Amino acid sequence: MAWTLPLAVATPTSQPFWDGLEKGEVRLQQCQDCHQWVFYPRTHCPRCLSEALQWNCVDGRGSLHSFTLARVPTAPHFADQVPQILAIVELDEGVHLTSTLREVDPAQVSIGMRLRPCIEPNAEGLPLLRFVPDDPCSTQ
Ligand SMILES: [Zn+2]
Repeated sequence: MAWTLPLAVATPTSQPFWDGLEKGEVRLQQCQDCHQWVFYPRTHCPRCLSEALQWNCVDGRGSLHSFTLARVPTAPHFADQVPQILAIVELDEGVHLTSTLREVDPAQVSIGMRLRPCIEPNAEGLPLLRFVPDDPCSTQ
C-alpha cells in the first residue's frame, strides 16, 4: 500500500519559515524589543509578549540536544526510513526544534555533537529541515 506522507500546513504565522526553506534558508523570528529568538513561529514573543517579531536568516547550525533511535517505523509512512534518528536540535540562537538526522551512523550519534542544516524536498516536494553532522573540514 502506498502511503501519502503527512504534510505540514503553513499558516499565516509560519509561512515565512516555509518560504525560507524553499529558498534554502533557515529563518527564525527574533523579538525586536528583548532580542529573544523564537521558534516555533508565533504572533508574539514568549518572553516579553511583544508583537514586534522579525524574521531573520540564520545559518542553522547547532548541537544535538536529545535524540532517540526508532528501529520500528513510527508510522506506516516511514516504513522505508528505519532506523530513523529523531532529534531535538538546539540551534546556536538557543531555540529547540524537532527534526531527523541524516548521513550519520546511529552508533556515532552523541548528545552535543555539532550539526548543520540539510534542506531537501520530501517525496511530495515539501522542503524539510533535517540535520547532518557538521564536519569542521567540510566546505559547505
Ligand atoms: Zn521579547
